[in-house]
Amino acid sequence: MAYTVINPADETVVTTVQRLDIEEVDAAIFGATVAQKEWARRAPLDRATLLRRFAEAVDRDLENLAQLETRNSGHPITQARGEAASVRDVLEYYSGAPERLIGQQIPVSGGMNVTFHEPMGVIGIITPWNFPMSIAAWGFAPALAAGNAVLLKPAEWTSLTSIRLGELALEAGLPEGLFQVTPGQGPVVGERFVTHPDVRKVVFTGSTEVGKRIMAGASEQVKRVTLELGGKSANIIFGDADVEAAALAAPSSVFDNAGQDCCARSRLLVQRGVFDRFMNVFEGAVQDLRVGDPLDPDTEMGPLVTLSHRDHVTSFVDDDSLVAFRGSCPSGPGAWFPPTVMTPSRDHRVVEEEVFGPVVAVLPFDDEADAIKIANDSKYGLSGSIWTQDLSRAIRVSRAVESGTLSVNSHSSVRYSAPFGGMKQSGIGRELGPDAPLQFSETKSVFYAASEN
Ligand code: NAD
Repeated sequence: MAYTVINPADETVVTTVQRLDIEEVDAAIFGATVAQKEWARRAPLDRATLLRRFAEAVDRDLENLAQLETRNSGHPITQARGEAASVRDVLEYYSGAPERLIGQQIPVSGGMNVTFHEPMGVIGIITPWNFPMSIAAWGFAPALAAGNAVLLKPAEWTSLTSIRLGELALEAGLPEGLFQVTPGQGPVVGERFVTHPDVRKVVFTGSTEVGKRIMAGASEQVKRVTLELGGKSANIIFGDADVEAAALAAPSSVFDNAGQDCCARSRLLVQRGVFDRFMNVFEGAVQDLRVGDPLDPDTEMGPLVTLSHRDHVTSFVDDDSLVAFRGSCPSGPGAWFPPTVMTPSRDHRVVEEEVFGPVVAVLPFDDEADAIKIANDSKYGLSGSIWTQDLSRAIRVSRAVESGTLSVNSHSSVRYSAPFGGMKQSGIGRELGPDAPLQFSETKSVFYAASEN
């Protein structure tokens, strides 16, 4: 049973991908359990060296990975090159971890108490279609560094770069079975990660709806989970901000990757006194956005991932009177959708639900308390931005907004050296940062009795 991959920029067939069935997944899990035991026994320096070789293999293949992502997902080539480079960087960063997984020595009487960070075993990683390569690396790099084996199930729409990363791991010398890519359907391959007792942790990035199912299923075996789920993040522009800078930066905060970004600031909150000035500059910036051929290095926004996803995005723009302005996009074949700016009421569906497309809802607010109230009026709490030149306000508001990852006077979201993750229904656990390998380890405490001679 194969899945046909379509290029979303022109609707041509790229290739087909074989879906694994349950027996094949079970065989992969068995191979991973064998490989993991041998991997965990290896010297930390050996594991570090192999992860560095994996990073080098990704670096050598960078252009190929980027081209593959562009054909599969429609990502602009410049962005796709950055994603491939981020896989290399994350592998390099965590190649330092095997030799730094340091436990504690705890003062006790009658002997010695120490802690070890033991690997969990086999980790199942399930990824979404929006940033296939980078999100996979946030999981597999620290998991491997901590001495685990990894099975990676990519989203069906976008599995090509994950499959290539599996090949590169082998070319780099990682042992057979240690890092396997298992393409297939979520309810088949992904679900098996949840039900199979030899998979000790599931790292899931995707919709809140599926994440809830995974969490419920994992509870049967008290299986560890990290969940990175949906978002409806706010970009808050205060009247004391550099309004021009905020307006010029706003398109990238929500239209990057055609809005298919869990951190997209899809609610834009602007203080009333500067609303018109902001919208004026913002409109020019949206119209200047270069939307088109993803293979052109100057392109800033490509198509949506599939035609069916475009139907989903279109359903949010149901009333033309709420559209303030739009940018441009190509006509003809492809899942094209223009950047769209709406000015709905606070309770409109586009304000509450994740669109996962290039649609932003702009809402005016009165004062600081009103801005915080709107920002927190969401079941999600993943990301967000605050624009102000008042340092005290920046501190107050960044502490008050219920969100796992915020940036002030910029739209930075994910830095591999800092923790990333969501509050409320945006997820559980944190990825990346210096502590990520601990998310793939169990702390073991051992007391060694010593006789006093
Ligand atoms: P999705 O939930 O439909 O699918 C995600 C993955 O889960 C896919 O690989 C899919 O095949 C698999 N899956 C589906 N049903 C399953 C099941 N029953 N059991 C196990 N696995 C199953 O999400 P999507 O449409 O691919 O991605 C978009 C969503 O991902 C958005 O909600 C977005 O916000 C979220 N996301 C979150 C983050 C984050 O870091 N918080 C990052 C990227 C995307």
